[in-house]
Amino acid sequence: MLVTVKCVSCGLELDPDRPQTTCTACGSMLSAEYDYEAIKETFSPSSVRGRAPSLWRYREVLPVADEGRVVSLGEGFTPVVSLGKGLKMKDDGIQPTGTFKARGMSVAVSRARELGINKLAVPSAGNAGAALACYAAAAGLRARVYMPTESPASTVKEVVAYGAELVQVEGNISDAAKRMAEDADGSFDMSTLKEPYRLEGKKTMGYEVAEQAGFVLPDVIVYPTGGGTGLLGMWKAFDEMEELGWIGADRPRMVSVQSELCKPIVDAFAAGRESLEGPAVDGRTVASGLRVPRPFAARQILRVLRDSRGTAVAVPEAGITSSMRSLAKKGLFVCPEGAATFAAYENMLSDGSVDRGDDVLLYNTGSGLKYLELF
Ligand SMILES: *Cc1c(COP(=O)(O)O)cnc(C)c1O
Ligand SMILES: [Zn+2]
Repeated sequence: MLVTVKCVSCGLELDPDRPQTTCTACGSMLSAEYDYEAIKETFSPSSVRGRAPSLWRYREVLPVADEGRVVSLGEGFTPVVSLGKGLKMKDDGIQPTGTFKARGMSVAVSRARELGINKLAVPSAGNAGAALACYAAAAGLRARVYMPTESPASTVKEVVAYGAELVQVEGNISDAAKRMAEDADGSFDMSTLKEPYRLEGKKTMGYEVAEQAGFVLPDVIVYPTGGGTGLLGMWKAFDEMEELGWIGADRPRMVSVQSELCKPIVDAFAAGRESLEGPAVDGRTVASGLRVPRPFAARQILRVLRDSRGTAVAVPEAGITSSMRSLAKKGLFVCPEGAATFAAYENMLSDGSVDRGDDVLLYNTGSGLKYLELF
């Protein structure tokens, strides 16, 4: 039961029954809020247990009012695979469109349709565009996707196959966003954290991590960070579950992983800054989902890293591709972004920031099948 959407910076509340983008007073991201006291009555670990294995099992804390309006292709409730000695990987390679972007788009497209929006657009490094195109097709809505010409070939083909309009742009995701703003064709902007409901889809990652481990959270979660929705989503889920009485106050240490070629969060965290400063550095990492030189919600990401006593780690390109190959030898064919978490874990073991005895969850965000050119 959605009750409001609220600015995370100034607290302004906006009408959840109308399409919302960012805070109309200060421009920050908005957060969906529910009536947790009322929900508690019927929404509990035991009520969820027998439900279908999709992210919609958490429907009480999702923003779609009319269940009949949900656009679902079976997203969510992905497996957690053991890699031995306390190390696990949650594998969102097994998702519609092959990445965890399906989570956010299933929820945001469902809600957009419920609010009467029929034309959607997104700037994307590739996978968000593919997922938007997919869910718009399933929902019968129109979609337009702005992608860098260098986006993975798989994502270009998906966007076209799903019947969305594709606009290819020289440069990176910021250039794609600029082009989209210039076009201003009346489509609703589905950019990362510039509407409140993709985050709601991503927060189910946190509910699943908890539920699948019997509501005992890991010591450390290692997450490949581009725009940061997954990280912020999991953190929101933990706060909600505490409010619902499902977990206590303990939190995992949250670790953001980026590529050495594009690491705005790593640099800001290392410098002890609360937000990004200075010019954006755009490096062409093969982990295209991490090629986000200026994450819109950097301030919120950095706060989660600090509050959780976590950290931010940059890994070299060679470490990313060699981790793809070594994970494949263990039976996991993962995307470069997911592989980066494994490379980061090995670095953290050697510098002592994690111990072998720690319960560590690596988050794989997509399938290697979308990046065949890298194998
Ligand atoms: C988008 C993406 C990421 C980064 O996700 P954010 O929520 O933007 O931090 C990581 N991995 C893959 C495969 C992606 O598509
Ligand atoms: Zn505000």
